[in-house]
Amino acid sequence: MSRTIYVAFLEGFNPSWGENLPARLTEWVPGPIEPLSSLALGMDPYYAPERGQYNATLVLARLLRYLPEPQAKIVGLTNVDLFIPVLTFVFGQAQLEGPGALVSTYRLRNEFYGLPPDAGLLRDRTIKEVVHELGHTFGLVHCRDYECVMHASTYVEEIDLKGPGFCSACRGGLHAATGTNATLGAGG
Ligand SMILES: [Zn+2]
Ligand SMILES: [Zn+2]
Repeated sequence: MSRTIYVAFLEGFNPSWGENLPARLTEWVPGPIEPLSSLALGMDPYYAPERGQYNATLVLARLLRYLPEPQAKIVGLTNVDLFIPVLTFVFGQAQLEGPGALVSTYRLRNEFYGLPPDAGLLRDRTIKEVVHELGHTFGLVHCRDYECVMHASTYVEEIDLKGPGFCSACRGGLHAATGTNATLGAGG
């Protein structure tokens, strides 16, 4: 029995490819994926002026209040720069075997690296990061296979190297966690 995964775009973030994201995610993650619109989650309270970034842990905690059913999962997408106190920045954050995940596109954009914008590349990187963080919510840890979506990425180049799919070992873990069979796309 798959649980619904809700996808929520947070304050002020409305990318052109956002509407198609739930459909694209169903290729890679088990379960119905539904958009969740009009969350009254303002980002201001989570801004850390001394860092010029937003506290991912606090945003994620707040996001969980919008979980429609206790057994569901929720992934929030934002375009602001996220940090957790021990790290300079994070592409995203998730609760291991928990209901919540958060992904930022801030450092997934070519523009951040002084390159021309590329909406397709941004969408693909975002899908990988969402699948990665959702993998953590299903209890998966980081994988050594650099083509597997569960490989840890510190640099955007590492995200580009991996696919949006799980390696066979991680797919096995996902299968065990969800009881679903993988008609899902295969990773590297
Ligand atoms: Zn991770
Ligand atoms: Zn793997």
